[in-house]
Amino acid sequence: MHGVTPPPANILQTDVRDLPGVGPTRAAELRQRGVNDVMDLLDYFPRTYQFERAERPISDLVDEQLQIARGQVTAVDYVVGRSKPRFEASLDDGTGNLALLWFHGGYLRRLIHPGLVLRVQGKVRYRGLIPQMANPRWEKIEPDAALVGQDRLRAVYPASKRLSSLYLGKLIEQQLDAACAALPEWFDPQTLARRQLVARAQAYRWIHLPSKMTEAAAARRRLVYDELMLLQLGLILSTRFRAGRLTAPAMRLDSLLDQRIRRRFGFELTPAQHRAVCEIARDLQSTRPMNRLLQGDVGSGKTVVALYAMLVAVANRMQAAILAPTEVLAEQHYLTLGNFLRDSQVRIELLTGRTRRRMRGTSASALSSGQAHIAIGTQALLQQQVEFANLGLVVVDEQHKLGVRQRATLKGKGMLPHYLVMTATPIPRTLALSYFADFDVSIIDQLPPGRHPIQTRWLPTRQADQAFAFVRRQVAQGRQAYIVVPQIEDDGLEEVKSLTSEYQRLKDGPLQGLRLGMLHGQMPTEEKQQLMADFRAGNVDVLVATTVIEVGIDVPNATVMVIQNAERFGLSQLHQLRGRVGRSELISHCLLIGDAPTDDAQKRLAAMTATGDGFQIAEMDLKLRGPGEFFGVRQHGLPELKLADITRELELLHQAKEDALALLADDPNLSLPAHQALRAALIDKFGDDLPLAQVG
Ligand code: ADP
Ligand code: MG
Repeated sequence: MHGVTPPPANILQTDVRDLPGVGPTRAAELRQRGVNDVMDLLDYFPRTYQFERAERPISDLVDEQLQIARGQVTAVDYVVGRSKPRFEASLDDGTGNLALLWFHGGYLRRLIHPGLVLRVQGKVRYRGLIPQMANPRWEKIEPDAALVGQDRLRAVYPASKRLSSLYLGKLIEQQLDAACAALPEWFDPQTLARRQLVARAQAYRWIHLPSKMTEAAAARRRLVYDELMLLQLGLILSTRFRAGRLTAPAMRLDSLLDQRIRRRFGFELTPAQHRAVCEIARDLQSTRPMNRLLQGDVGSGKTVVALYAMLVAVANRMQAAILAPTEVLAEQHYLTLGNFLRDSQVRIELLTGRTRRRMRGTSASALSSGQAHIAIGTQALLQQQVEFANLGLVVVDEQHKLGVRQRATLKGKGMLPHYLVMTATPIPRTLALSYFADFDVSIIDQLPPGRHPIQTRWLPTRQADQAFAFVRRQVAQGRQAYIVVPQIEDDGLEEVKSLTSEYQRLKDGPLQGLRLGMLHGQMPTEEKQQLMADFRAGNVDVLVATTVIEVGIDVPNATVMVIQNAERFGLSQLHQLRGRVGRSELISHCLLIGDAPTDDAQKRLAAMTATGDGFQIAEMDLKLRGPGEFFGVRQHGLPELKLADITRELELLHQAKEDALALLADDPNLSLPAHQALRAALIDKFGDDLPLAQVG
């Protein structure tokens, strides 16, 4: 039986598909933009606002101003003359005549003809006594259409070909009254008064339909506060969850074990590494689960510090896992750790999405029986049904903060390990404050001894051959090189195609005679491993690759990094790529090939040649791109911020944190009736595995 779905109790949950004016195509398009119901529609915020003037009688039009008028078309003409062809029309509203002209307006012959009533907007210029608009915006209206009586602000929405800003505006406006009436307020009047915030319903009305800019600003401030409050509440709750309800295994560590581990490295730890090791060691010896961020520029030696922690776990008869963002990096860790642990009892297993099924089975059973001590893999490692006998430590490499959800997955499996997150992206203080509020931080601010700054040069495309000649000279001296080719399309196949053709071009042309290898994300694991092993062993001179080599690859003899179409890369990404060289006492070089088509690209490339300091690079990147993109916020299992810019709204961020703490002090599980709407929003944003859902 085909039942009729009852209408949702709440207008905010009405599916956009059921709104007047939304057909299946537009519904699909809206869905793609994350707009599923009316609440999502309210949360679809304008990009900016446009000032629209009230309509005026033609006789009152003012010279040199942007204005709106209407009238009936009395005559049209198409003038193909000396210079640009133009379409002309004459508009009459009973008070006077307005001359309209559109250059290259031939197509308008089919659209505009005498008798139509038009509303036009444009800048007015008087030609003698006749006002004129050149290339005005126009729309056809009914003769009795209501006048736009007042100057107004029109919201401009992020739009696409099929969803125009105008359409979105109308759709939102249509729902606004009813939707705002149904919006629950989250905070009590005292809080709103103290923080000078407008009511939530008022804020939604004003952000979409302000009558002046001060209203839009007040609306934005309230909505930013809401975002920050949710973020802070979520962070505080998850920290509390960790501190109060979880215990991790306490490990034992004495100086004998400490010495035994350090002997494995074959070098002295730098003072910065030593400090990080001490901080981590202290955490591991406690039952309070470690949640530590290990931050250090590329090449600063984070892996060694992580290895130290993993060996402490292993010595305590526990297992450790290291999660890498890519397969190549997982494989690289496998090789590196394998080298450090050669001739030891420690057994390492590599598990990626591409590990052969049979092998995967063997590895998995070694981990579940406890025969294997260290697991290395991509996120798939967690998601698939890998059981650990006794997992004591999870290391998350390169910006993969473990989300609340993933943590809950592990907990569901009865595992409460310590966490160490490694990142080469220095986190500006402001970001650390909000996103990593629940983390302790260790910083490695020093490179291993004997490292030289990487010589970075930027070459325009027409001088690319100089870069390849340089590669040849370095290879002649026994060095190795990387050449990175950008990913042109998102589609993996296209990526392989463009890489393959560049590889062929280099092989037959500028790098003829050298031993070239090609590395990309679509290759089977064994091939990648084989190629990396060959490169490491010096059997391959030049590795031509996509950005799969961006993170973690460590071949000290590779001293040249050539980046093609460097203008296409983000600043942090360029810095990461550059960090693949300069990993020994040899002097290394980074050659950026590209022509900067935009101001920002110009700034990025100039910054790269100006500094090697990851911290400066990160700050600059943050300025150029804003925090959302900069940090790949979505990856972190935290809600995306739509409006708030936490690099600028520091004060509001502090206020939100204070208020969040006060709120939770009064009502620790948000169980008071007045907090139900807030609680629902929180669960909606953070997922239902937030401790709230379990506690309440
Ligand atoms: P990161 O992961 O921070 O980019 P790695 O841990 O990969 O850095 O270390 C970079 C290189 O420096 C590796 O070859 C590593 O063996 C080496 N290294 C690390 N620490 C030291 C040290 N204290 N002294 C000498 N070499 C070191
Ligand atoms: Mg690394």
